[in-house]
Amino acid sequence: MKINIDDISEHGLSVDISEEGRDIEALAGGKLEFSFITPVAAHLDFVRTDGNIHVTGEIKGKIRLNCSRCLKEFDHELNINFTDFFVRGKEEGGEKELKDADLDVSYLEGPELDSTAMLLGQISLEVPIKPLCREDCKGLCSKCGADLNSGECGCDKDEKTDTRFAKLKDLKINKP
Ligand SMILES: [Zn+2]
Ligand SMILES: [Zn+2]
Repeated sequence: MKINIDDISEHGLSVDISEEGRDIEALAGGKLEFSFITPVAAHLDFVRTDGNIHVTGEIKGKIRLNCSRCLKEFDHELNINFTDFFVRGKEEGGEKELKDADLDVSYLEGPELDSTAMLLGQISLEVPIKPLCREDCKGLCSKCGADLNSGECGCDKDEKTDTRFAKLKDLKINKP
């Protein structure tokens, strides 16, 4: 959805939107590490200050991720609060001071803000690089590939030892 900056009055503008997952995916070129289970709902508050735009938003929805340890799919509830700051004009060297400040600054060249891009950016930040279905996911057995969350597979424990511990063991053995 496009938001025309001229629609933001001096009192600001509040919108409630709902965007289809496929529109957000399309904007990302279909290269997302997650899929959408529900449309993404957002409440956005826009305020104009000196021609620049400050956005406060709340995003809700549900996405599906793949666990980086056990490879199973799991659902993740989105509940994101964010702020965004748009400076009108092109990004130039002269703006560097602003950029270095502790502010999340984006540059806006045209007369419109793209809420789809805003949602995509915020959701991508929310998704962990290595998603876990649960904090203590035991992952897969490196030997037989069994899902260790559903119980021990019976493989020899020693053979599963990760190399860090293997080194520790050697140290002990080599002790005088
Ligand atoms: Zn897992
Ligand atoms: Zn095993």
